[in-house]
Amino acid sequence: MSNTFRNITGTFDILPAPYSVGGSQVAGSAAWQFVEATIRVVMGRFNVQEIRTPIFEQTELIARGVGQLTDIVSKEMFAFERGDTNYVLRPEVTAPVMRAYLQHHLDQQGGVQKLYYIGPCFRAERPQKGRFRQFHQFGCEVIGTPDARADAEVIALMMAVYEAFGVNETTLRLNTLGDEASRPRYKAALQAYLSPYEARLSETSRERLSTNPLRILDTKNADEQDLLQGAPVLVDYIDAESRAHYEELKGLLGDLGVAFVEDPFLVRGLDYYTRTAFELERPNLGAQSALAGGGRYDLLAVEVGSKRPVPAVGFAAGLERLFLALFEQGTALPEAPKPQVFFVALGDEAARWVFSKAQALRHAGLRVGLDLNGRSMKAQMREANRQGAPFTVIVGKDELAAEKAQVKTMETGDQVEVGFNDLTAYLDSEGNATRP
Ligand code: AMP
Repeated sequence: MSNTFRNITGTFDILPAPYSVGGSQVAGSAAWQFVEATIRVVMGRFNVQEIRTPIFEQTELIARGVGQLTDIVSKEMFAFERGDTNYVLRPEVTAPVMRAYLQHHLDQQGGVQKLYYIGPCFRAERPQKGRFRQFHQFGCEVIGTPDARADAEVIALMMAVYEAFGVNETTLRLNTLGDEASRPRYKAALQAYLSPYEARLSETSRERLSTNPLRILDTKNADEQDLLQGAPVLVDYIDAESRAHYEELKGLLGDLGVAFVEDPFLVRGLDYYTRTAFELERPNLGAQSALAGGGRYDLLAVEVGSKRPVPAVGFAAGLERLFLALFEQGTALPEAPKPQVFFVALGDEAARWVFSKAQALRHAGLRVGLDLNGRSMKAQMREANRQGAPFTVIVGKDELAAEKAQVKTMETGDQVEVGFNDLTAYLDSEGNATRP
């Protein structure tokens, strides 16, 4: 059927059961629920509260917040116009969270705001393994303090999430970008160093040389990486205060037993970072290696309209990349829950009784399945088997007359008669009814 609709390239459906598409595995919805619930538990331990912002914002917020020169804003936005307003599907959540913080005056609630989110983001990137156009991020923002302990806590929290899932082989890379004034100084030094080699640079890097030379540090081109060996390093250009902040952060991470490697070339793709920048990597994540990244963004609030600076630090992580790591490690993930009981009815009268009894059992908190197709007993038994319910309850004319059902334990094949009034207690003998 060539004329049926398909999901848009770079997006995927999450189904009850896991499946593969184009060589990529997609976890089932129960696994997604489990992963999200685990993230929430870890966020809770660090005393971080959830925030949910809309999935679309004014384009201006993202353009100013993330930065005009970034790939995200210049090439990857899903933007649209309606009336005289430009909107964009959010490509990240930090700028929206800062917008909400300022709009709702969360600073006036006293103390530091610690907020986390989990939700979809949108970037018009070239889809490939581990890279999608609609993907899911979780992350945390600690807003309202320049204290290096906030940076250390955000990093420790990020690491704790991956630890909770037993993800190994990760490398935490750390750098400092200095303050507002140090970046232009470094930018000029880097431009001066690279300019004589302009002819050796790739087209992208040549473009970046004049606009955003720091991004050249990210290059995957071996010749350019060689060239960068002799380049000035950011750390030599940063202000004394930022340097002290960095030293303090490294000390705190040491106290917490968080291992890291220093990477003077780590700059990250977003413009809003100041001082701390970090990335968590793991091999075998498809074409890329980043599980998560983040940093301090003391300039963002002013960029999006605040009259005074609001110091803040956070991280963002991709759920799809986390799943890739879990698949790669062969981690067992929860499957879709099975019904605790499946009803099989013989005849119209029994079907009617079963329909009401199923309702009563559901009110009592059991997960109950039944046939909605009026199929034969054999087909209903097959369905019970397929759905993997531990018990099948069979009711026909005789059972209705005797007010007793046949209850089959699927694993053993044993069948017993249970009085209608005792069914709930019998079926929930293991006490696993799920009450809301
Ligand atoms: P960024 O905001 O670019 O630092 O992204 C933070 C994290 O989101 C990355 O480390 C990835 O795990 C994830 N991520 C970013 N872009 C994509 C994408 N297009 N598809 C899947 N995951 C992504």
